[in-house]
Amino acid sequence: MKVTIVNCGSSSIKYAVFDMSTRELLGSGLLEKIGSDDSRLRHRRLNPNGSFDEILMHEKVSNHAEGFEFIFKVAAKMRILEDPHELFGIGHRVVHGGEVNHGPVLIDLSVMSKIGDLIPLAPLHNPANLKGVEIALNLLPEVPQVAVFDTSFHATMPPHAFHYALPYSLYKEHHVRRYGFHGNSHSYVAKRAAAMLGKPLESLNAVTLHLGNGASVAAIQGGKSVDTSMGMTPLEGLVMGTRSGDLDPAVHFFLMREAGMSADEVETMLNSQSGLKGICGSNDMREIGSLAAKGDQKAQLAMDIFCYRLKKYIGAYFAVLGRVDAIVFTGGIGENSALIRSATCQGLSGLGIVMDENSNSGASGKEAEIQEGQNVVKILVIPTNEELEIADHTVETIKWFKTGSPPFK
Ligand code: AMP
Repeated sequence: MKVTIVNCGSSSIKYAVFDMSTRELLGSGLLEKIGSDDSRLRHRRLNPNGSFDEILMHEKVSNHAEGFEFIFKVAAKMRILEDPHELFGIGHRVVHGGEVNHGPVLIDLSVMSKIGDLIPLAPLHNPANLKGVEIALNLLPEVPQVAVFDTSFHATMPPHAFHYALPYSLYKEHHVRRYGFHGNSHSYVAKRAAAMLGKPLESLNAVTLHLGNGASVAAIQGGKSVDTSMGMTPLEGLVMGTRSGDLDPAVHFFLMREAGMSADEVETMLNSQSGLKGICGSNDMREIGSLAAKGDQKAQLAMDIFCYRLKKYIGAYFAVLGRVDAIVFTGGIGENSALIRSATCQGLSGLGIVMDENSNSGASGKEAEIQEGQNVVKILVIPTNEELEIADHTVETIKWFKTGSPPFK
């Protein structure tokens, strides 16, 4: 039972092929720089011994349609998917589901039109996601395709968490509210945290920290998201690789008035030239860590701001949840940087968060418990697997459609 997961960007296609009878990843890859002379495909192939090797292929790919054909050709050559027509389904990661999509949906024309309607809320992501859906449906019209939204997991937020204190008409007329993102990651690690703690997901209270180039925190109560740091767009919240996160809204008007910047310039600056990169020139936490270790003050400041903002959100979400079973680190930084995990948890013993530094330094890229002793609040490192989460949703949604039995929640 093979399923392909697709994540279409403006000039890229990320994909993964799973055998869902075993939930095994057969291969995955990233086609980049579509439309340039320099397009290339980086494919990861599963070896018989369970390891992966990476193959880099250069091929001129002029558009996304050619990209899909090239990927399917490579997948056939690598013998992970002899014939895409044999697929049980395709799962599309779609960034914004708005208020209408509270879960994964089987794609039809009305779903496509809703994804299109949401473009104003996610102008950088939804157009490419929609393009991927259109091309895949065109190529494989008989294969069921499912849209899995980044926002859906946060649909359980209560109104006091998702409303902004703005004129109510803006919510009614323009849908201005908090939606939250990284939902597939927060959902995946919450399930794994419950499994690691040996408790049902429905009784898990946790603070999940997805720390990658984009970063967000979620407050999970009874296995459901009740608040998250990203807002109407992925710009709000934590300090990120190139995004500012939280900011006094008056800074925008000040920059427009005093620095003569246009609204578009401010938006680009906040999304692409701020965050870690804006402070110290790099958005690669490995590089920032080694620069800071050599005494680079801006790199140290970038790390300090990053961890301080994170600490404030952890405190806030402890107040939201009352009881917390675990805090969970995931994403490229959360899974791999013992330094950031340690700096973030410093001084939080009042909340019951005490790290075991030995376990912390040994935990990289694998599931681990890193709190000191039998502390009540567990500190977990859990590598995320958004693709597998999307693949699970894809299979359940298609089965639901075929059998009429509702998908898991
Ligand atoms: P992601 O967006 O989840 O792929 O995460 C990208 C971020 O993870 C970048 O800032 C990387 O520098 C960071 N990262 C990856 N590996 C490590 C590591 N070993 N130590 C520190 N940061 C890392």
